[in-house]
Amino acid sequence: MAEAVAAVEEGATPLAGATWILRSPIRDEKLAGSYVAVSGLAELRAIETGDREIAIGAAVTHASLCAALNGSADCAALVQAAGAAANPAIRNVATIGGNLCAFSFAASDLAPALIALDAQAEIYGVSGPERKPIETFLAARAHLARGWLLTRLLVPRNGRISAHARLPLRKAGDYPVAIVSVSAKRSSDRTLRSVRIAVGSVEPVARRWPALERALEGRSLDPEEAAEAARERVGDFQGRDGVEAPGWYRMQVLPKLVRAAMCGVLAQA
Ligand SMILES: Cc1cc2nc3c(=O)[nH]c(=O)nc-3n(C[C@H](O)[C@H](O)[C@H](O)COP(=O)(O)OP(=O)(O)OC[C@H]3O[C@@H](n4cnc5c(N)ncnc54)[C@H](O)[C@@H]3O)c2cc1C
Repeated sequence: MAEAVAAVEEGATPLAGATWILRSPIRDEKLAGSYVAVSGLAELRAIETGDREIAIGAAVTHASLCAALNGSADCAALVQAAGAAANPAIRNVATIGGNLCAFSFAASDLAPALIALDAQAEIYGVSGPERKPIETFLAARAHLARGWLLTRLLVPRNGRISAHARLPLRKAGDYPVAIVSVSAKRSSDRTLRSVRIAVGSVEPVARRWPALERALEGRSLDPEEAAEAARERVGDFQGRDGVEAPGWYRMQVLPKLVRAAMCGVLAQA
């Protein structure tokens, strides 16, 4: 780890599964002069399930994450996100860290899932490891001073139930047009508590939907009502225009995705 961080400090670019980096020329981005391969670092490949949190190494692939955490109630939305992203060949090599460190990638499936699960990001720089809420990391990542690696994602084990819903336009391998991840705590009267709703791919960076969270807090778990509440609030977003879809369309499909995610939460409940 120390050698890898030192290499990054000296100007090398981290390289994990390379599925984002290989497309640099298509995005008119120059390839770096030197790379440091991080996929083989044992510290970054581990998944540890503790009493309070699940720690997922940044170099864990989407496929390994699904295999290791399938059935883990604490990570349902994340497993669904990792299992639905891209296609099997990409999932076998693309890493969690690479997905979150592709700064200009708006359609990350993992970002909204991790936000919904209230996860933290651990980065390792010259002053050692440091944790940040995932949203803080996503907002700050492009501006961090050189010389850091994303090392782990920490998902709290606090009894949340969660689900992930996404809309690719045509087939597996397409980037999703819009994404909704939802989590809430279980309550004995079947109402929603501590609701977290995250939206991805609609704006350049995934973020929470605070007005919808407030509207659903304390309400019963009803996917139709949740979709209606979402419909009234889609104006909270400024959809980005892109090759897959215009901004207005990304916003318009959100109520349907909220409904689908709520159905997923209901099934888990
Ligand atoms: C055909 C195709 C379809 C796709 N569909 C989807 C989809 O539906 N949903 C989705 O979410 N994604 C999708 N993707 C994107 C894919 O998930 C990302 O390309 C992948 O997750 C990046 O991971 P990687 O390990 O290959 O990263 P790399 O390409 O190796 O690196 C990506 C970036 O992260 C940096 N980096 C990597 N690891 C670290 C680290 N530990 N610390 C700091 N910086 C680091 C690199 O320097 C680089 O800037 C798709 C990609 C392809 C090619």
